Amino acid sequence: MQSAIFPNGDEVMSFLLRITSVTVCRSVPGGVPWNADMDAVLRRAMFAHRCSACGRSYKYKKNLQRHIQVECGKEPQFACMFCSSRFRYRTHMLRHAFCKHDIVL
Ligand SMILES: [Zn+2]
Ligand SMILES: [Zn+2]
Repeated sequence: MQSAIFPNGDEVMSFLLRITSVTVCRSVPGGVPWNADMDAVLRRAMFAHRCSACGRSYKYKKNLQRHIQVECGKEPQFACMFCSSRFRYRTHMLRHAFCKHDIVL
């Protein structure tokens, strides 16, 4: 099964290179050949904060904390008052109301 975030391997690598090139250049003086180990290191560095409940991983700890508090195993808490849709974030609900019901809350 393919990841929804990374449709294919080439995109993963280009994404990694794009966001980590600065770090890599600094941490590896003179440079080393790109290999699978480096790939693993970068992946671990990128998604170092893993939810123990569902396995989702995040680059930043605060995103993991938000996931645990708001998302993981939780039902969406914000209900649209015009239809039966529910949302995890108030901003998503407001956007929905605006787009679907043409209402600004
Ligand atoms: Zn989780
Ligand atoms: Zn609605």
